[in-house]
Amino acid sequence: MQKLLLYNTLSRKKEEFKAINPPFVGMYVCGPTVYSDVHLGNCRTFISFDLIYRYLTHIGYKVRYVRNITDAGHLEGEAGDQGEDKISKKAKLQQLEPMEIVQQYTFGFREVMRLFNTLPPSIEPTATGHIIEQQIIAEQIIKNGYAYEVNGTVYFDVEKFAKEHNYTALTGRKLEELLENTRELDGQEEKKGRLDFALWIKAKPEHLMQWRSNWGQGFPGWHIECSAMSTKYLGENFDIHGGGMDLAPTHHTNEIAQNIAYCGKQPANYWMHTNMLTVNGQKMSKSLGNSFLPQELFTGNHSLLSKGFNPMVVKFFMLQTHYRSTLDFSNEALGAAEKGFNRIAEAFKTLKGLKANDSSSENIPEIQKACYDAMNDDFNTSVLIAHLFETVRIINSANDGKTKLTQADIDLLNKIYSDFVLDVCGLKFEEEGGEALTVLDKIVKVVLEMRAKAKADKNFALSDELRNKLTESGIKIKDSKEGSNWTL
Ligand code: AMP
Ligand code: ZN
Repeated sequence: MQKLLLYNTLSRKKEEFKAINPPFVGMYVCGPTVYSDVHLGNCRTFISFDLIYRYLTHIGYKVRYVRNITDAGHLEGEAGDQGEDKISKKAKLQQLEPMEIVQQYTFGFREVMRLFNTLPPSIEPTATGHIIEQQIIAEQIIKNGYAYEVNGTVYFDVEKFAKEHNYTALTGRKLEELLENTRELDGQEEKKGRLDFALWIKAKPEHLMQWRSNWGQGFPGWHIECSAMSTKYLGENFDIHGGGMDLAPTHHTNEIAQNIAYCGKQPANYWMHTNMLTVNGQKMSKSLGNSFLPQELFTGNHSLLSKGFNPMVVKFFMLQTHYRSTLDFSNEALGAAEKGFNRIAEAFKTLKGLKANDSSSENIPEIQKACYDAMNDDFNTSVLIAHLFETVRIINSANDGKTKLTQADIDLLNKIYSDFVLDVCGLKFEEEGGEALTVLDKIVKVVLEMRAKAKADKNFALSDELRNKLTESGIKIKDSKEGSNWTL
């Protein structure tokens, strides 16, 4: 097996990857909370872990990749544990069953992941499917003395845990600082300490998703679901745990504390975190209202986009930056990525028709080695892509008769493309809907303009008919003060 370095958030340095039981690797990644469409920032995290999954597999590991679906317990608020359950809230607003919300956005998420050509995880467990497992862990934590029940809610005793263990090991933050920055919130007076978080929450009668427990009717906290599902499918100690960087200070810190309090073991040997996708330097997030939906990108149906972009261009744009660096999203940056992606796609075509020479003026094995070196250095796709551009230069130069390549060189170049571009990066060159969606966008906008004109002319029969026909064809129309927009 090749020497692979990866950055471990826990040690704050790059470490050589040593699997617990090679060639098997267990990897757990926190999945989406399915209360609304995933935005492009969420996609960046999942695309990064897809790359890591693909590369580990490529170099010979047999990976069990578990990525959960959070369909209960994720509350509002910065740390995900204050206020209402996000899914219940949406269900109430839309007068739907919470499971209808879950179904809609889980399928939407899978479709987006398919368009980005990411591989499905080995197991995709849900929080609601593991209520008993979560209760058992909470019970054991109480027995071990690190949690307590008050009036039907079970809290994790952070102060007690922190006396015996390093509670903030993952971030290196000071406990005193955390205490200073945490406010006591209404309805939380029953907690012993300000940092205590809920493992199980008592449900009010009107709460939509609730289950029976030893502590009465309630529902699980957000953090405990990942402890329960990772332990169930990967064991008490497994190789890699991942998620976005924003999850480290609370969700992952609490997950580690829960696991240690439950069974005395730190769950994962390597904690990997992806950096944020930003817009004008600000984290892309639903709550800030600066998020882009993948469909808006593919169709170009967004006021800040000049046109639609192929999902592979968007993916290439992301892979050009290392997963631990922030990446700022803009129409211009996507345009530049499109040019780069097209150059690689063209070179791949040219490569198919290259004629071999008897001798060579290039060192292709060295480029292949450099590609592996880049990926073995904490999955550095940014450097990998720079080497791929070097192959583009060689292929074009050979095509112009300025560079000589032997048949072995050409075969190796084909292997580099197949291994790194298709297999590891998961890019593909054939158009998948990108062009068609751009054309569709133009057509729908024409119809929407006709509808607006019909309305202005007070021809409501025609405007309604146009709207109904679009809806029948699967086009969802959103009307606002600024005009009408559409999605599929
Ligand atoms: P959520 O659906 O909010 O639970 O988030 C799903 C995943 O997306 C988590 O791993 C987050 O850390 C990640 N995430 C959220 N916003 C961003 C962003 N702007 N850039 C990259 N990852 C993000
Ligand atoms: Zn999680």
